Amino acid sequence: MSSIQNDMDYLSFRPRIRLTAFCNRSCSYCFAKDYLSARDKNDEIDLASMEKILRQCQDEKIQCIGWQGGEPTLHSNIHSIINLHKKYGIKAMVFTNGIISKDTIIALSDIVEAVLVNCNEPTTYKGDELTNLFDNIKLMQKLYGKERVAIGINIYSDKMDTSFILEYALKTAINEVRIDITRPSPSNENMFIDYSDIQRTFEEAKKIHKLLLGNGVEYVHFDCPFPLCAIGEENVSYLRNYINSDLGHGQCSTALDITPNSNIASCFCSIQFKDIGIDTFNSLTHAWLFIKYLEDEMKWSINTKDSCENCSNRENRLCQGGCLGYKPGINNVFDRKMLLSKQDLFEKSNIVSSLYILYKTNDFKKCYEVAGLYLKDNKYKNNAAIKEIFILSAIRLHMVHLYKDDIIKMVQNSFYPSLDALLYASVLSETNSLDLSIEIAELGLMLDKNLTAYRLHYFLYEAYKQKNQTTKSSINLVSYYKYLPDINKKRLREMRR
Ligand code: SF4
Ligand code: SF4
Repeated sequence: MSSIQNDMDYLSFRPRIRLTAFCNRSCSYCFAKDYLSARDKNDEIDLASMEKILRQCQDEKIQCIGWQGGEPTLHSNIHSIINLHKKYGIKAMVFTNGIISKDTIIALSDIVEAVLVNCNEPTTYKGDELTNLFDNIKLMQKLYGKERVAIGINIYSDKMDTSFILEYALKTAINEVRIDITRPSPSNENMFIDYSDIQRTFEEAKKIHKLLLGNGVEYVHFDCPFPLCAIGEENVSYLRNYINSDLGHGQCSTALDITPNSNIASCFCSIQFKDIGIDTFNSLTHAWLFIKYLEDEMKWSINTKDSCENCSNRENRLCQGGCLGYKPGINNVFDRKMLLSKQDLFEKSNIVSSLYILYKTNDFKKCYEVAGLYLKDNKYKNNAAIKEIFILSAIRLHMVHLYKDDIIKMVQNSFYPSLDALLYASVLSETNSLDLSIEIAELGLMLDKNLTAYRLHYFLYEAYKQKNQTTKSSINLVSYYKYLPDINKKRLREMRR
């Protein structure tokens, strides 16, 4: 059975490189406003630094990176950067405003994984720009394939007329639209949705979302999380079906961004790192995990508002309180001095990242041995991430009989039993332990009261089919799948590609 989530996906992340610190547009709501204004207008990453990052990606089995800016395609050496991607076999996910040269669009054909074109109201474009934008989107679809090109809208006011995005979608015959509301940049100088306006703005976003779907746009989704109490229960259910990850409706995933001068950064709205070079870390994975652990601490310990303190959504780690940018103090500058005070996180992220890399390079034996040694050390014996990679390696080495009870405990003790169960069940099924994979998947489904767990349902649906098992539960699952919103079915199909 092919897996709908594999362990490599789970351990992977996509670093984003800020190729430039300048842009040919000036969107009022731009998250990157502070970053762009603080930097030299001609700032861009040099080729040697880019090559180093791509080489690291190759070594760490990272297959795709994001291109950000500013406007990344304005890099003065863009064709050399594309050639470097080809040399190292790394794909690019391009975030662009779409006002770019045809030459660049054509050259990108060989390396593009996906493109998201950020669109604004028609009045913001000058001269031929809007016509060019439509032509460019059509050309990208023709060259890269329709499924690789999406357009996006950022709603920066609950009074904004969002209907233009439908017009753009129909004009370009696009399949996918991303919708988001704008979030606060660290200085709050961009136009963003005030916390108290989130509910009203979400209702507007939902209206345009339904309109796009109703007009035949196949895949219309949200991106970043919302404070769950601010949008209400009905909208939370709605959102879950149209957001790009199981937890994405209530919490964001960590980004490792790399600036033109090779410093680390996170999302523009999150922690502001200052002068911490990527070279400080032993690998890209190390830097990413360090930021992740740091953000995790902040997500669950800094309340966005007082009522978060005793909220079950926070306690169950379902809601981080909305965008991190709304959290008091999150944007305080984190510099080298503060890094020294976080040696525990630095060390932990180093150990876990080195195990991830061993696992991803298929060195399961070494991964199992090294993780096993750490688990014997009092300091790390309760570390869930090390335990997890240890067990995954054991499964890959066909030693699962020794660790069945541990897998069950890991699922039982997880905040998200269905996600952990899916991970173990997928690897088990890939290593021919189908019966145990079904047992673990059923356990995850039984324990998870908080998540829709449709991917796990789907996994079981496929597993039962493979076993020709027509039990009552399999029939229920088949009907569950049948009534899933089409959008989720499409996502499931995509995940299996
Ligand atoms: S954690 Fe905070 S923002 Fe989220 S639902 Fe609870 S009270 Fe609301
Ligand atoms: S901090 Fe999180 S929610 Fe806010 S913009 Fe960044 S990814 Fe989205």
